[in-house]
Amino acid sequence: MSGHDGPSSINIIERKRIAKLAEHLSKSTHFAAKEAEHLLHYFYKKRLRDKDKMDRITFRHILHVSFQISDDFLMDRIFRAFDKDNDSHISMEEWIEGLSTFVRGTKEEKINFAFVVYDVNGDGYISKEDMFPMLKASLVKMPTEEDPEEGIKDLLDLVLKKMDHDKDGRLSHVDFTKSVCNDSLLLEVFGPCLPTTEAADKFMEEFQ
Ligand code: CA
Ligand code: CA
Repeated sequence: MSGHDGPSSINIIERKRIAKLAEHLSKSTHFAAKEAEHLLHYFYKKRLRDKDKMDRITFRHILHVSFQISDDFLMDRIFRAFDKDNDSHISMEEWIEGLSTFVRGTKEEKINFAFVVYDVNGDGYISKEDMFPMLKASLVKMPTEEDPEEGIKDLLDLVLKKMDHDKDGRLSHVDFTKSVCNDSLLLEVFGPCLPTTEAADKFMEEFQ
């Protein structure tokens, strides 16, 4: 087994590089250097061959298996929230920075994260167009006698009535923050986009 880098063995240069990056990232995230290092080793095992990047399929698999998040649309949105430079891959930095909010984020960080997830077209507002597919997905899971389109419109009106504080027909970051501060359940009003505390703790247990 000597001198051959199988998927589970990392050479000394790579080890050093990972340790250095972990040390650096521990300064800007909620992870200790050792935790970041372990999370990067996990990333290293899951990354694309010969590239320091994780693809969408692998990321979605982790969301599903480790965090029990399985809604197709939202998994892609969470991927986009992690993929800050929008290159359709997760880099090592994006992995640690995203996870920091995902499993240890402050209330403010989680609000910002959920807002990015829900602002589907990225124009800085959660508009009716953004909400529609997410509310539709949540309604489909609740069987109802009603016309689903009508049900979605009713839900939209309800959400806006409760959350659109400046009454311009869409949710600004201020509207969203205000609403979540009044009622923390509204943080995930358009569907699960963050892990439960239990899932987050369980995930982190592996990296102590
Ligand atoms: Ca990226
Ligand atoms: Ca938008």
